[in-house]
Amino acid sequence: MIEAKSLTKRYGDKAAVEDLTFTVRPGVVTGFLGPNGAGKSTTMRLIMGMDAPTSGTVTVNGRHFSQHARPLKTVGALLEARAIHPGRSARGHLLAQAATAGIGRQRVDEVLGVVGLEEAAGRRAGRFSLGMGQRLGIASALLADPEILILDEPVNGLDPDGIRWIRFLLRELAAEGRTVLLSSHLMSEMAVTADHVIVMGRGRLLRDQSMASFIADAGAERVRVRSPEADSLRELLAREGAIVHEAGEPGVFAVEGLTSDDIGTVARKADVTLYELAPQTGSLEEAYMALTEDSVEYRAKEAA
Ligand code: ADP
Repeated sequence: MIEAKSLTKRYGDKAAVEDLTFTVRPGVVTGFLGPNGAGKSTTMRLIMGMDAPTSGTVTVNGRHFSQHARPLKTVGALLEARAIHPGRSARGHLLAQAATAGIGRQRVDEVLGVVGLEEAAGRRAGRFSLGMGQRLGIASALLADPEILILDEPVNGLDPDGIRWIRFLLRELAAEGRTVLLSSHLMSEMAVTADHVIVMGRGRLLRDQSMASFIADAGAERVRVRSPEADSLRELLAREGAIVHEAGEPGVFAVEGLTSDDIGTVARKADVTLYELAPQTGSLEEAYMALTEDSVEYRAKEAA
């Protein structure tokens, strides 16, 4: 469990994180979202005790990170700025870490296996591709078998296979009862990996809720309708109080305010033929874009 209470971090007069209160619970994957500059990395550094808050607190399993007898057994992290000695092999890097933390050699081989780096274990980490470097970073986060995992953009540089692998790994780790906090800019991936979302914008908490309710809250649910008698059906549905949106295809429209059951019943009563009747669910990307529109700090200039 990670608990932040009124967590604030200022750099000069700029608040990178302001009055942040949230709880990251065990047993689920929590997605940590927000535009660049929202304060995600700062928050992760504060959790890991790599930076001190200006005010407020953040604890991992009830205590400050540094107050744990074996902090790495409590939290394993993959953060952006990782120091890997380029001349060291992957195994050498993990062995050095294991020695410092009092972890046996056997565990090093175990995590090399978990991340699929057995074959490359003897190669110099400096020659690793971005994806292999990410795998090594994940191996080092897992080394002490931590109860809490914090991963900043872990899929960065991974190929589709690697992305799938990390999705299954994280879901499995959460199912074992661990706490998993994950940041990523890949919304489609986040949507299938995380069960819960924490969204930040300009240093502040924007949302802390389940993935399903975040997506559902964001947009009015619509139903896609296709019918050879679209014009008369539109009128009938409007009379029932529906809002009808054009879909840009002949004979197709989208309905807001009525369920697919309602629409089917209206069509049946009026003896109108339906070719398609499909409830549309919004996407995480749409929900996220709608929420963070105003808090994007560095927006690319629109092309003239
Ligand atoms: P994110 O990870 O969401 O992109 P960051 O936590 O990196 O956001 O940054 C939040 C804000 O704090 C940004 O405006 C950033 O410029 C600022 N910031 C982060 N670290 C420092 C630092 N060490 N010194 C000054 N400003 C910082």
